[in-house]
Amino acid sequence: MTDYNVDRNGFYGEYGGAYIPEILFKTVENLKEAYLPILESEDFKQAYHALLKDYVGRPSPLYYAKRMSEKYGCRLFLKREDLNHTGAHKINNALGQVLIAKRMGKTRIIAETGAGQHGVATATACALMNMPCTVYQGALDVQRQHVNVERMKMLGATVVPVESGNKTLKDATNEAIRDWCCHPADTFYVIGSTVGPHPYPDMVARLQSVISEEIKWQLKEQVGRDYPDYLMACVGGGSNAAGTIYHYLNDERVRIILGEAGGKGIESGETAASLQVGTIGILHGSRIKVMQTDDGQIIEPYSISAGLDYPGTGPLHCNLYAEGRAQVLAANDNEALKAAYELTRMEGIIPALESAHALALLPKVANQFKPTDVVVLTVSGRGDKDLDTYLKHFE
Ligand SMILES: *Cc1c(COP(=O)(O)O)cnc(C)c1O
Repeated sequence: MTDYNVDRNGFYGEYGGAYIPEILFKTVENLKEAYLPILESEDFKQAYHALLKDYVGRPSPLYYAKRMSEKYGCRLFLKREDLNHTGAHKINNALGQVLIAKRMGKTRIIAETGAGQHGVATATACALMNMPCTVYQGALDVQRQHVNVERMKMLGATVVPVESGNKTLKDATNEAIRDWCCHPADTFYVIGSTVGPHPYPDMVARLQSVISEEIKWQLKEQVGRDYPDYLMACVGGGSNAAGTIYHYLNDERVRIILGEAGGKGIESGETAASLQVGTIGILHGSRIKVMQTDDGQIIEPYSISAGLDYPGTGPLHCNLYAEGRAQVLAANDNEALKAAYELTRMEGIIPALESAHALALLPKVANQFKPTDVVVLTVSGRGDKDLDTYLKHFE
């Protein structure tokens, strides 16, 4: 049987690995040796699960969406990560990594952020655990996402606007890596998705796997069996999707459908659908599908959703797509907006624009569903942060 988990060398098929500067070799090697023993220690498990329960508010509900189920001809359940503290799944990962950093004796946290969601989650974890925190963010994103910048500052983080390149996420990541190279001994780099050099994709997937751990017992309780027929999630770097599918990766009874950001259309040149339009390259220390020119320059991604406009996708998902284990479809800006309004009006839930890219696949795949099929779709975050965008497009 195929195993879709990471192999001993940090690869998922031909994707993954750790392509890092010499100066970080020892730091990444230390993390590689430390992360599994820490994750499996009783001390970590107890601290992490206590925070997930009483601080984040887990378990997040698995909600049977009755009206949407009737519309799409299946039994649709929504995994409500939007109800977590700070409004999305990212806090699961940030808390876990800061706990790991503490156990490794690190005294300083750095992070990169695009829209600011991961920056806020990391700044939150650092406030809670009394760790100094520096967040790198592209100068353009600092302007565009000023509310999240204010949040990070209020939480006590130092936000460094990055003026190089296009002044967006890729440039912030480069700057964070530069900082890490200068302070490898005391600094822990908290990466926000299932990207970066091994062991980050596996570490982040394991921290987010609480999502599918809960789906298992919640389904057992609600439908009498512990697996769905379909799992659906949106994909930026891939962390909420990885958490959603983690415990079902090798369970072929469960079909996986992933939604990436089509932007203005995958043929338009203004897209973030890196699994479908990308080619193999090295980005942020990992061999993945990257949107790049013929000579390897990164193409700036575009999506209406700030959390999905990353020019690559994590190695786990690259492999699932290459192997045909996951069906990957793009949802364009207008389709996501429409889906967000539909969920709002039919179920009274305003989703994040990112999550709306998973919802927007329902009309595209409904013809595959039987009425008895159990479909679990992860609502990765809440839409408060996107209200301006929603109102602008639907006045
Ligand atoms: C950041 C973000 C995403 C995309 O990141 P993944 O790592 O692909 O999950 C999706 N939804 C929300 C709400 C986000 O904040």
